[in-house]
Amino acid sequence: MRRSIVPGSFDPMTNGHIDIIERASRLFDAVTVAVARNIGKNPLFSAEERVAMLQEECAHLPNVGVDSFDGLLVDYVTHIGATTIVRGLRVVSDFEYELQMAHTNRHLSPEVETVFVMTTTEYSFLSSSIVKEIALLGGSVEGLVPDSVRQRLERQVRK
Ligand code: ADP
Repeated sequence: MRRSIVPGSFDPMTNGHIDIIERASRLFDAVTVAVARNIGKNPLFSAEERVAMLQEECAHLPNVGVDSFDGLLVDYVTHIGATTIVRGLRVVSDFEYELQMAHTNRHLSPEVETVFVMTTTEYSFLSSSIVKEIALLGGSVEGLVPDSVRQRLERQVRK
């Protein structure tokens, strides 16, 4: 069985993330969406909330599970018996960072492969930071994130 992992901050998840996860679920027997707990960037949502949002929105994908991890990604990949890291590419500017990460992860763990999936054009401009910025400035994030995420975001911003 080939298991892949879709890692990220998911703070919060967007429709772009769903797009990548759905693509990964068609390519692999099993997919683990892995929420990075120790992100430096002072997250808006706790790891538990980020996991809960992903679980709700991935419920229609029977071969997809959601988890969170601390520490090195490659250690977690090996720990759960996955073979491949799936990352989304939106625009050329993603490439430099992703290339650096892929090489670093290969150096740390040569048996783990990184695979890139291009997002649908519709979501190529979309990121968690843009979504947060819109919400914090009082704009509508409808169509950019699932409805349940939009509601959580609105509640969080009001706090
Ligand atoms: P990280 O902080 O690790 O980059 P993110 O939550 O921002 O985590 O992203 C997780 C993964 O989802 C990354 O591979 C990223 O390239 C991808 N991704 C983020 N937004 C989109 C989008 N709009 N379309 C496709 N992939 C995306």
